[in-house]
Amino acid sequence: MDTYTSIKHFQDIKEELNRREATLVAVSKTKPNEMIMDLYESGQLDFGENRVQELVEKYEYLPKDIRWHAIGHLQTNKVKYIAPFVHLIHSVDSFKVLKEINKQAERQERTIDCLLQFKIAEEDTKYGFDIETARAMLDSTEFEKLKNVRMAGVMGMATFTENEDQVRSEFKNLKFIFDIIKEHHFNSEESFREISMGMSGDYHIALEEGSTMIRIGSLLFGARG
Ligand SMILES: *Cc1c(COP(=O)(O)O)cnc(C)c1O
Repeated sequence: MDTYTSIKHFQDIKEELNRREATLVAVSKTKPNEMIMDLYESGQLDFGENRVQELVEKYEYLPKDIRWHAIGHLQTNKVKYIAPFVHLIHSVDSFKVLKEINKQAERQERTIDCLLQFKIAEEDTKYGFDIETARAMLDSTEFEKLKNVRMAGVMGMATFTENEDQVRSEFKNLKFIFDIIKEHHFNSEESFREISMGMSGDYHIALEEGSTMIRIGSLLFGARG
C-alpha cells in the first residue's frame, strides 16, 4: 500500500472514531519503521505490536512519545523486556501473566495498565479468559495484593468469518462481559473503561457494539506477507 492510500485510510478512520470518542491503535507488526513514521507524522501516537522482540526494537528506534500497546499473547519470561515502557497490555490471558506484569512493574516503580483478554470467538483460539475464571481471579485476595497493575478494561477478538451476525453477537458478548465485570468489580473505578475490539475487517460492527478502542493493521499498512 502506498503512503497516500495509507494516510487516506488513516484520516477516514480517525474521523469516524472522533465522532465516537474511540481510540485507534495502529497495528504495525511486521511493518518497517518508515511506515510507522509516516503515520506518526500525521499525528498517530498509539501503535500495537504482538511480538515482544519487535516491540522492543521499535521502541528503541522510534520517537519516545509513541504509546506502545502489547496486543499478542505474552510469555511470562518476556514481560520484563516491555515493562519499562509499555503503555497498555491488551492481552492479559492468565493470572500467572498478570502477577508477572505486577512484579516487573514494581521493579520499574511504575503501574502498568492492563486489559483482560476474553475468549469470545467460536474458533479454537488458545488464549483468553472465560468470565467465571476472570471473576474468581478478581475476587481473590491474591489479586488484591497486586499494586502495580491497573485494570483498564477488556479485549477480545471475534471469529474470522464473513458471517456478520456471528461477529456482532460475539462483540455483544464482550460488551456484556465488560458490563458485568465493571458493575461487580470496578464500579467506582473510572479507569476501568476500555473495550478493545474491532480489527480491519470488523471494526464498524465493533464500534456499533460499544468498542472504545480498535486495533487496525492491514487497512493502514497493507496486507502482511
Ligand atoms: C494483527 C492483529 C490485529 C490487526 O489485524 P488487521 O486485520 O490487520 O487489522 C488486531 N489485533 C490483534 C490481536 C492482532 O494480532
